Amino acid sequence: MDAYIEFRNVVKKFDDFVALDHVSLQIPKGAFVTLLGPSGCGKTTLMRQLAGFSEPEEGDVLVDGKRMNGLPPFKRNTPLVFQEYALFPHMTVYENISYGLKLKKAPKEEKDRKVAEMLEMFNLQGLDGRFPKQLSGGQQQRVAIARALVKRPDILLLDEPLSNLDARLRLEMREEIRRIQTETGVTTVFVTHDQEEAMSITDEIVLMRTGVVQQQCPPQQMYLNPANRFVAGFLGNPPINFFRLDVCGGTVCLAEDYMLRVHGAADGPVLVGIRPEAWRLGQGLRTAAEAVEMRGKDLLVTFSLAGERARAILDITAGGAAGDAVELTLEPRLVYIFDPETGARLDAEVAG
Ligand code: ATP
Repeated sequence: MDAYIEFRNVVKKFDDFVALDHVSLQIPKGAFVTLLGPSGCGKTTLMRQLAGFSEPEEGDVLVDGKRMNGLPPFKRNTPLVFQEYALFPHMTVYENISYGLKLKKAPKEEKDRKVAEMLEMFNLQGLDGRFPKQLSGGQQQRVAIARALVKRPDILLLDEPLSNLDARLRLEMREEIRRIQTETGVTTVFVTHDQEEAMSITDEIVLMRTGVVQQQCPPQQMYLNPANRFVAGFLGNPPINFFRLDVCGGTVCLAEDYMLRVHGAADGPVLVGIRPEAWRLGQGLRTAAEAVEMRGKDLLVTFSLAGERARAILDITAGGAAGDAVELTLEPRLVYIFDPETGARLDAEVAG
């Protein structure tokens, strides 16, 4: 992979608190990447190192092979769009979008042409004379992104740009950002703590926890192949269930009459992660449903397994109610084995 953006062992501290802990990552030119992780894991801090609003104590930040450390934001072509749109309230849409061009003393003809291009791209035609307070939240966010894009940035940084919008608008804007990114091809880094948003919008996810990158790869791969317990637990709704069990002679006993074969794990305690959609009706585990919840086109069945609560997502046609006997089998590709102490994924293959 040719890195366009590169972090090499970046450390950022606030007094004794380590907000970025030796972060190394690479992002290719033209990619659309999401920084994902729980609140406080360092997503915004990472973006700020890229935009130049903050400087790391250690390590290098490179764009297109050039070291960015020490360069102030205005010398980097990497505008940051925040969740608060930060438009100039006393300026019209035209003036807001063309602000960066005005600073560059671009001629009026160029400003008119580029603003018109942006208005069309963002479906804002006819709104150029309005002030921000005369626009909806979604329109204001479009203007904010247009203002960043009009200067043809090297990198577009979007920090939770959709979090002030209602659910429907969020979905609409998400599709629009994806479309515009594809059209312009601008390398984009998008911050969110919403896993569904990250899974649906981007080419790659960088999942962080307490200042440490946990895994970087395309969304489906991260879902199907989590690097550790944290990644497996962060992605998925309803979430994966974990069971503390033992490997014994190449098998894991989930219940008296139901076991899984495991290749490549030594005998001893393990943490088994089972995604709810791994279960289906079939010969295997005999149990009783403790709760059955209708979820639109599928059923969420809760039952007990190895002393823990387990969830299965089943086809709506399965029917049933709390207390009903149910027999379930597993899709082994959605079952993962982790080290119970460190949470690292073990290189073990589960066979049905
Ligand atoms: P959120 O999703 O809530 O926006 P985040 O992942 O973007 O979270 P950051 O804003 O990067 O998290 O913050 C990472 C950690 O660094 C947090 O624990 C935060 O309290 C701390 N932090 C951030 N900025 C400062 C600062 N200027 N001074 C001290 N601590 C800070």
